[in-house]
Amino acid sequence: MQNAARRKASALLLDTFWPNRCDCCEERIPYDLLICPECEALLQAQRITYTDWATHHSTMPWDGGAVLFSYEKAAKTGILAVKDGHRGFAEYAGVLLAEELKSCCPPEQISCITWVPVTKRRKRQQGYAHTELLARAAAAALGRPLRSDLLAEHAGKIRQHDLPAAERKKYAERFTATDRRTDGLSIVLVDDILTTGNTLRRCTEELRRQGAARVWIAAVCATIHPDRAASAGTDCL
Ligand SMILES: [Zn+2]
Repeated sequence: MQNAARRKASALLLDTFWPNRCDCCEERIPYDLLICPECEALLQAQRITYTDWATHHSTMPWDGGAVLFSYEKAAKTGILAVKDGHRGFAEYAGVLLAEELKSCCPPEQISCITWVPVTKRRKRQQGYAHTELLARAAAAALGRPLRSDLLAEHAGKIRQHDLPAAERKKYAERFTATDRRTDGLSIVLVDDILTTGNTLRRCTEELRRQGAARVWIAAVCATIHPDRAASAGTDCL
């Protein structure tokens, strides 16, 4: 009890010097909220399902998926904040992703959770991978272990959304499995945005090549219509 009181006191003190802000609108919020109630209401209006995305796309190699929001407005601002290293929206979305995943894969069947990686250089420069922040929050909510050693991104100088659609699939080949075997594992693969599915398709195929029995994908946002991918300005396709 004393520890809880002490933690609350230090959180309040911290909030005095570094005020807690909503990642979606930057308004100041109480220290114990992840996002503000107004943005939470806006996000609820942006909820979509994995099926909404899947009905517009060909069959993918994964076993099922979870998606939360259309990639626009408050959700887009939240994702951009996570890319800048903010944790509030990441933790908020991670808990929702965990809930959504439960409808397609029971947590006890999940061997581990991993994420679409960033290059070693980018991780070193930023100090984090934004997809890892999302995966960590989902893993904590699901009570399942994280694996950081299954996939790697190799350096590429071109931003994926600058490429013609036909070349994007080939560009996704910069993602490869590591030498870690995944025999028999049931893996949840987390990404920030699902657009054409090329990145997650490649990562899923690589995990299967190393032995994974099942792969489920979990994306915070999705762009449902492929022709809107370019205007969405995402390089995580
Ligand atoms: Zn807000």
